[in-house]
Amino acid sequence: MKDSNFNIAHLSNADLLARFGKLVQTERKITHLVLECIAEIDTRKLYLEKAYPSLYEFMVQEFGYSSSAALRRIESARLLREVPELSSKIESGALNLSQLSKVQQAVRAVQKIEDRKLDTNEKKELLSRIEHTNQQQTEVILCQALSLPVLVENKEKVHRDESVTLTITLNKDQMAILKQAQDLIAHAVQEQNWTETFTYLAKKEIQRRTHLKESNPRTPASGVISSTSFERKPVQTTVKKIILNKNKCCQFKDRTTGKICGSTRFLQIDHQQPIWAGGTNDVQNLQILCAQHNQHKYRQESFFA
Ligand SMILES: [Zn+2]
Repeated sequence: MKDSNFNIAHLSNADLLARFGKLVQTERKITHLVLECIAEIDTRKLYLEKAYPSLYEFMVQEFGYSSSAALRRIESARLLREVPELSSKIESGALNLSQLSKVQQAVRAVQKIEDRKLDTNEKKELLSRIEHTNQQQTEVILCQALSLPVLVENKEKVHRDESVTLTITLNKDQMAILKQAQDLIAHAVQEQNWTETFTYLAKKEIQRRTHLKESNPRTPASGVISSTSFERKPVQTTVKKIILNKNKCCQFKDRTTGKICGSTRFLQIDHQQPIWAGGTNDVQNLQILCAQHNQHKYRQESFFA
């Protein structure tokens, strides 16, 4: 299509617009194909193999998507997997990624507020109602159809000194909970402002969760070593501290690229050689893995056992 003498500035107005129209069509077609790939990568959990703890981190770090672009695509891909008919709507431009992601946001809101899961037919009905509408109309239609107060998008604005301004909206109940928490911790925070409150609560939660958990006792696929007895003793706290000091984050490694996961969330102690296969609680046999990679390793071990 592109030859070396081609110069877009020489196109007539009509040709320029025709060209643009064609490219937009191609772009939508590609968007749909990209979503299909994302859904399949998600189903196969291929990001785990590549030493990423989540699909989101895989897309942001490996492919350079911005945080919001990655989220929009992941949400849309999951919806597309559930409602395959969507593909023609995306291709024709009747629906776009922002709208699909708004639908997923609304579905989550219903689940949170009413503790109710929308089924596929309800989602299809919503999707048909927002076709060919703009962002604002989409939001209004979704809120009215599901009796939601507002669909709030939280905003993060990063400043030059790397400080961040957060804009969040809470409903009445959420605000009451936060106020209650703020009163309860009034003795511990210096200033009664939200920045101090959030930071204090977050630190407490991190402290609570970084008490390392040991992964569930693993056994291989049933029957493989049925005649062998093995005993599982808990890993001592001092050993846990040593291993956490040594590793600090998930050590899962992609064998081809050498990339290490490095996630610091949901960390667990893993026995490199499983207990059932004669592994011990010695420091040399222990490592830190995130919960996702611990499960991934377990699935592989079961598969090859
Ligand atoms: Zn990991």
